[in-house]
Order: sequence, then structure tokens, then C-alpha cells
Amino acid sequence: MTDKTLFTRIIDREIPAAIVYEDELCIAFKDLNPQAPLHVLVVPVKPLPRLSDATATDEPLLGHLLGVAARVARDAGYGEAFRLAINNGAGAGQTVFHLHVHVLAGRPFNWPPG
Ligand code: AMP
Repeated sequence: MTDKTLFTRIIDREIPAAIVYEDELCIAFKDLNPQAPLHVLVVPVKPLPRLSDATATDEPLLGHLLGVAARVARDAGYGEAFRLAINNGAGAGQTVFHLHVHVLAGRPFNWPPG
């Protein structure tokens, strides 16, 4: 058994993923069940379960995740139109309890979101 989250296991290369970006603070890889032509998850190395578990100490990290998300969209050719989503809690659709930013692009997006 392991206490590692699914995404920590991807970071540790125990589970394969299509990694598109990585640095000392975060990793970005393609979602296994893409909801748009571009669907990448930006995940901090620090295994914060939810955004609401972040503290003031984590604010530079949270800003970094957004910067990386924009970079991932830009590098994939979608810098002009992309959607970011963070599901916080099961009631909001979160299924993996390791903070992640969804980066979606390449199709129209409705507002308000579903
Ligand atoms: P959420 O529902 O916001 O917690 O998002 C979790 C996301 O992780 C979903 O979009 C899943 O498709 C995705 N996912 C689950 N397992 C994997 C995996 N092994 N590799 C890549 N993406 C995954």
C-alpha cells in the first residue's frame, strides 16, 4: 500500500503520463479522459488535497500554477483562448484529492459552466 496520491505517483514515475511540462514546483500532463482537444492538468509537487487547504504560505505556489497553466496553453498554440478549472471538493466534482488546475482549450466553452 502507498499513501501517495495518484498524482504523486505520476510525479515519481510510478504511473505513466504524457508529461508536457515539469519544474521543481509542479508538473503538467495530459488528462487521461480529455474534455477538449487540449486538456492538461497542472499539479503541484506539494500534495495539497484541495485549493481550500492552501495557506498564505502557498500563495506563491498558487500563482506559479496559474503561470504554468497559461504557458502550457500558449505552448500548445491556444494562448488566445483557454479555460482553467479547479474543482474543490467532491460536491464540485473533485475526484482526485491532490490539487490540480485543468487547462482546457480547442473548442467553444459555455458560460456559466456546467
Ligand atoms: P477532478 O475531477 O477535478 O478531481 O479531476 C481529476 C482528473 O484526473 C480527471 O479529469 C481525470 O480524467 C484525471 N485523471 C485520473 N487519473 C489520471 C491519470 N492516471 N492520468 C491522467 N489524468 C488522470
